[in-house]
Amino acid sequence: LPNVFKAALPILNKINKVGYEAYFVGGCVRDLLLNRHIHDIDIATSAYPEEIKQIFEKTIDTGIKHGTVTVLYEGQSYEITTFRTESGYQDYRRPDKVTFVQNLSEDLKRRDFTINALAMDAEGKIIDHFYGLNDLVVHNIKAVGKAENRFHEDALRMMRAVRFMSQLGFELDLDTKKAIFDNHELLSKISIERIRDEFVKMGVGKSSKRAFEVFLDTELYNEVPYLEHKKEQLSVFSKLNFSPVTEETFWATIIILLKLPNNEIAKFMRAWKNSNAMEHCVYDIVTFFDLLSYRIPSNYELFSTNLDTIMQTLDLSNILGQPVNSQAIIDRYEALPLKNESELVIDGNYLLKKGIPAGPRIGELLIEIKKAILERKLENNISAIDVFLNNK
Ligand code: ATP
Ligand code: MG
Repeated sequence: LPNVFKAALPILNKINKVGYEAYFVGGCVRDLLLNRHIHDIDIATSAYPEEIKQIFEKTIDTGIKHGTVTVLYEGQSYEITTFRTESGYQDYRRPDKVTFVQNLSEDLKRRDFTINALAMDAEGKIIDHFYGLNDLVVHNIKAVGKAENRFHEDALRMMRAVRFMSQLGFELDLDTKKAIFDNHELLSKISIERIRDEFVKMGVGKSSKRAFEVFLDTELYNEVPYLEHKKEQLSVFSKLNFSPVTEETFWATIIILLKLPNNEIAKFMRAWKNSNAMEHCVYDIVTFFDLLSYRIPSNYELFSTNLDTIMQTLDLSNILGQPVNSQAIIDRYEALPLKNESELVIDGNYLLKKGIPAGPRIGELLIEIKKAILERKLENNISAIDVFLNNK
């Protein structure tokens, strides 16, 4: 048993000791059986949140109404959720009502896919009511129960299906796929932020090319910003040379496949409710990629672009199968006489002291000086810069 589970075992034991059932559930059991990295451990229990709070010293009321308490134990945190069922779902998003129940099997029924509906007890016994173990073996993403109903309850599950395909490299069960195709329009009921989180996980998963194909086949793409009617352009994704591994290169890939002009990049990123920081990174990568695709960047352009943007842009050209001489660009960057602004021995104040009047000329001169240094026409020291200024 991996250490993360060993560390969590006392939690199950403590709950068991006071007479309640407790199990590891969902993603952590799936990932344990697949030998994948386990990032968080979820526990399901017959105990009520109030009872969990009595058993453990340090707890946080994460979602008491929905039965979830976070327990802090030996420096780790665990989400402990009371067995529950959900009902209502009139808005295709969230249940109108959650009801606490006394047995695990009711709780497993509400989960999205068979591989996510597995539980494991403190002895390591797996509880599998929906042939999830079999689906793990045959690499199948299959809805628990009738797929159509499950997507009516919560339309986000359709995006989760393609996201798990990508992350796990699994195929989609045919009934489940048909249900997504038949109900794709319901995705429009879901907030962009929640769709985006799944879309990005799909985009950077190891099997994103295949998952993206299914995202197109099922017509889900018609329900999200900027992708509507763009099947032809987007189908190139499945033929990429490499899969994107960062969120930034994923967005940049989509933007380039859509052939968005530069002045639409920000609009696109905002339509997907991305952060300003993400928007700017992606803008820089796409514009630097454009530059690289028609000429060699000057030293000043390399200096003005941060190293992370350069590296991600080089990755992007590999993804798109338009390789540039990456090593040559990295070597040139490494050899730049200036790597950032702070290495310049003078600044605007120095120019003021030299008698240059305040105003735009100061900024222009600084750029001239940096360019001259970067092109190795000027040395980055005070006396050389003074001579340069005197000759102006
Ligand atoms: P990961 O955390 O690796 O992205 P996960 O399977 O743990 O994957 P979470 O979103 O953390 O996914 O959800 C934990 C578990 O809760 C899932 O395994 C599943 O059993 C259940 N679950 C999560 N979201 C839904 C949903 N929209 N509908 C039904 N069950 C869900
Ligand atoms: Mg999880």
